[in-house]
Amino acid sequence: MLKCKEVNADLSRYKELHPSITFKDLNEARKIVNLYSLANSKPIVVEKSDRTKLRYKCMIGCPFVLLISQDGKGPDFKVKTLKINHNCDDAFKNPRACTSTLAQYFNSKLQNNPQYKLKDMRKDLKDQFNLNVNTSKLKRAKRMALQKLQGSFLDDFNRIEAYANELRLSNPGSDIVINALML
Ligand SMILES: [Zn+2]
Repeated sequence: MLKCKEVNADLSRYKELHPSITFKDLNEARKIVNLYSLANSKPIVVEKSDRTKLRYKCMIGCPFVLLISQDGKGPDFKVKTLKINHNCDDAFKNPRACTSTLAQYFNSKLQNNPQYKLKDMRKDLKDQFNLNVNTSKLKRAKRMALQKLQGSFLDDFNRIEAYANELRLSNPGSDIVINALML
């Protein structure tokens, strides 16, 4: 029987960025900053981006600055500058809330309830982050999250199938059957 993964849609762990945080590459940094931006309802934008650094700012006049760049010694990327004070209002629209970020946010909610309706997803974003997202974008995010869930289910299943094959090989004559419970 496959165990249901830990389900948690809470973004609280993305609410703060600690200066000690490291990222394996800028792609990972982008994903985390997107969730950070969503969790804080702040419409931060990329000011500068190249292979070695990523710099974010907020709206004109807002003191927020975030610079992530390559760590001098290693391959990792680090938070180099972080000024977290905002004097802007919470964002009704947020450029960081892209389809894949929304898919990530809804991942566990859709795992709990694959029938989760678009209008309820919309309401969720409005209630949680005061964020307004159009239905077609939400539709794409929902599809992306469901595909990912299906993919990870198949990965788990294939891993168990491979393990069962090993058992069959090392225990000739035994009868090993996998029972997968679809949740
Ligand atoms: Zn701001």
